Amino acid sequence: MPGIVDPQLAPLDIAVVGSGLGGLSAAIALRRGGHRVTIYERYDFGGEVGASLSCASNGSRFLEEWGIDVSKAKPVVLRDLIRHEWSTGDVFGVYPLGDYKERFGTEYNNFHRIDLHQHLKHVATSEEGDGIPATLKVWHKATGLDPIEGKISFENGVEVTHDVVVCADGIRSQMRERLGVVPQVSRSSSCCYRCIISADKLRELGLQEFCERSAIEFWGGDGIDKIVMSACSDHDVVSCYCFYPAEKNDIREDGWNISTTGENLANTFPGLDERLKTLFRNAEDIKMWRLYNHDPYPYWVKGKCCLLGDAAHPMMPDQSQGACMAMEDAGALGILFSPKYSSLSVAQRLRLYEEERKPRATRLQESSKRARTDLTERIGWSSANDRPGKLTIEEVCGYDMHAHVAELARKLEGSTAGDS
Ligand SMILES: Cc1cc2nc3c(=O)[nH]c(=O)nc-3n(C[C@H](O)[C@H](O)[C@H](O)COP(=O)(O)OP(=O)(O)OC[C@H]3O[C@@H](n4cnc5c(N)ncnc54)[C@H](O)[C@@H]3O)c2cc1C
Repeated sequence: MPGIVDPQLAPLDIAVVGSGLGGLSAAIALRRGGHRVTIYERYDFGGEVGASLSCASNGSRFLEEWGIDVSKAKPVVLRDLIRHEWSTGDVFGVYPLGDYKERFGTEYNNFHRIDLHQHLKHVATSEEGDGIPATLKVWHKATGLDPIEGKISFENGVEVTHDVVVCADGIRSQMRERLGVVPQVSRSSSCCYRCIISADKLRELGLQEFCERSAIEFWGGDGIDKIVMSACSDHDVVSCYCFYPAEKNDIREDGWNISTTGENLANTFPGLDERLKTLFRNAEDIKMWRLYNHDPYPYWVKGKCCLLGDAAHPMMPDQSQGACMAMEDAGALGILFSPKYSSLSVAQRLRLYEEERKPRATRLQESSKRARTDLTERIGWSSANDRPGKLTIEEVCGYDMHAHVAELARKLEGSTAGDS
């Protein structure tokens, strides 16, 4: 009937707490469903660190679905996974990704995290693209949340109420606690350095091969010690993650901001390929980081609120899937809050979100923990060593979320068909 808007189709007023890669992805997915989205960020920027981020097809698929021109974030398209002998650097294993796009629908993109973050922020808030541009409110540190009312209070005294609140405030999420989830956390036996170096510097050092390849390269991985190197930002930057036993310096501070020297980094890995040690001594922006294990949380949804990204499922970095899982979370919200599922209530959509996302993210969390000290558990390498139950590249990268959501929605409709 003209003039009467179906209340189910009316845009919702949605809050996203946190403007990391997860929060920005959620904002993009939800604005495309026609909703009004406000992102609240505690600082004056959504911080990202100088390091690479590999984005397999299960994440890249959503970037493409959301109409994002991925090339603007200057990815290196990965062609191989390469294993090097620890001390000589000789290559002893190659997993070619040659037909990856034909198999899984998108490229395997390797981004500089800052490039991707800036681009997602632009897409979320820009006038261009489908839906209403999201509003980004910085210097809004959320401190309180009433999940039933959807009411958030901020350190600056502001209070707001939204129809839905997406809590994407990272591994140390305070909103998670407001939902009543108490994380069970233990210190991992591993710490990690990250460092970057420019392609110009590598050429000066005669190490240009490291910026020219389109690969993720590994040294070690049969135990705690592991170096993971890749080129990003159109091959202009090379990024290394260097894992080592925590007992070496037992750092306890949180975050990525504990600086150290190239000499310290090189000395952490005696016997390592000398080319890498030269790179470490000349690296820029070297930081140390302690890793933490989080057991899966009992639930992700309460009232009008849901957890997303690291707030929902922090994981070891060894499957390179944390951000991809956050993009999948955002993808699921985008699908469930699209007009296709407008006959469902907010509560039903959030229930399906948790049902769809939690088992898969938990499986990734568990396999990432195993991959921390065993590279043959990492997707790609795991395919060549199949054993029942092992996570494979096919399971992760070939996932059809639209079909899965449709199946869950059918089941929900079936179970409520008799209700009135
Ligand atoms: C060593 C390492 C390597 C990795 N490599 C990969 C990889 O190759 N591929 C991959 O897919 N993933 C990778 N990951 C995982 C990935 O980095 C994370 O899973 C992802 O960045 C999480 O994004 P997020 O938005 O959930 O959280 P965050 O990036 O932590 O964002 C949270 C945001 O919330 C804000 N915030 C926090 N508290 C509040 C508050 N109270 N109020 C308002 N705002 C708040 C923060 O300032 C921040 O902007 C890696 C992780 C590590 C540690």
